[in-house]
Amino acid sequence: MSPLDLRSDTVTRPTAGMRDAIARAEVGDDALGDDPTVRALEARVAELLGKDAALLFPSGIMANLTAMLAHTEPGSEAVAERSAHVVDWEDCGAAHFGGVQLRTVQGDGGLLDPDAVRAAIRPAGPHHPRTRLLCVENTHNAAGGRILPLERLRALRAVAAEHEVAVHLDGARLWNAAAATGVPLTDWGSEADTVMVTLSKGLGCPVGSMLAVPAALEARARRLRRRLGGGMRQSGVLAAAGLYALEHHRERLTEDHARARALADACEGLPGVRVVPPETNIVMLELADAPAVAAALRERGVLTSVFTPTRLRAVTHLDVGDDGVARAARALAEVLGG
Ligand SMILES: *Cc1c(COP(=O)(O)O)cnc(C)c1O
Repeated sequence: MSPLDLRSDTVTRPTAGMRDAIARAEVGDDALGDDPTVRALEARVAELLGKDAALLFPSGIMANLTAMLAHTEPGSEAVAERSAHVVDWEDCGAAHFGGVQLRTVQGDGGLLDPDAVRAAIRPAGPHHPRTRLLCVENTHNAAGGRILPLERLRALRAVAAEHEVAVHLDGARLWNAAAATGVPLTDWGSEADTVMVTLSKGLGCPVGSMLAVPAALEARARRLRRRLGGGMRQSGVLAAAGLYALEHHRERLTEDHARARALADACEGLPGVRVVPPETNIVMLELADAPAVAAALRERGVLTSVFTPTRLRAVTHLDVGDDGVARAARALAEVLGG
């Protein structure tokens, strides 16, 4: 039996329908502006997020980096949540490539407090760094796919606006937040200056992330993407997968959420584990020894990721059905001796 892979929602393989869309994609040289499928995807994502333009990137990390570079200058600061992806998982890209210092603020379960953000924004004057940017993440990966409620995002945006600080939304899993809450994507999009969304996670594409930007930032973002080596050629083959996924794989995200809840429920009451109640498709299990439990699960054909020494992450996605959840629940019960 092939292993059940719950390490991430990035492990999905393109479906037959998606492969068919890829095979039929009309393409051209996108660096020359000639790829009609890329243009169609960029227009579609801009429309969904209520922005003037969107750019296709090879990865979310490159799209986040482009946004951070676009909003800052060397020797300035960006504020981000303590366990944000841009802080913990992007290898200091903003510092390395942009000379930007990240000032972190501890959130409550990943949720930033507007007053704490206000306090982290530097006072004007020649003696402090200039705060240029606030980065927010929705859903919050390390907090277990936690949704940043729209009201909270609004409050954070208002604080940033008081100080002329731009807001970048790392929405790698914004699709999940929108599917779980029913809040339209444009509502989230209007509360940030730039928005990154990922095609290669819950939506099930092989490659690709998008950065949605206002018209005033489009040329700068395109130039930065090129500088980072993110300009691509016949990338319509990737864009075709993205268009297909936006059409066919967005509504089904609520199925992933229901399966994550089912898995969490199955773990409830097992000895030695505390479950972080999932709001979307990420189940975080607090355990005394996460690596040992992950190894024992692996022996039973269930792959999870060791998020921290005491935290195991299991993510539901397109390639996990009800049978997969049942299999994972059985393996966990065996390993934890419930
Ligand atoms: C995965 C992820 C990214 C980066 O996306 P890649 O495509 O893997 O580079 C950025 N932010 C968050 C919150 C993520 O989960």
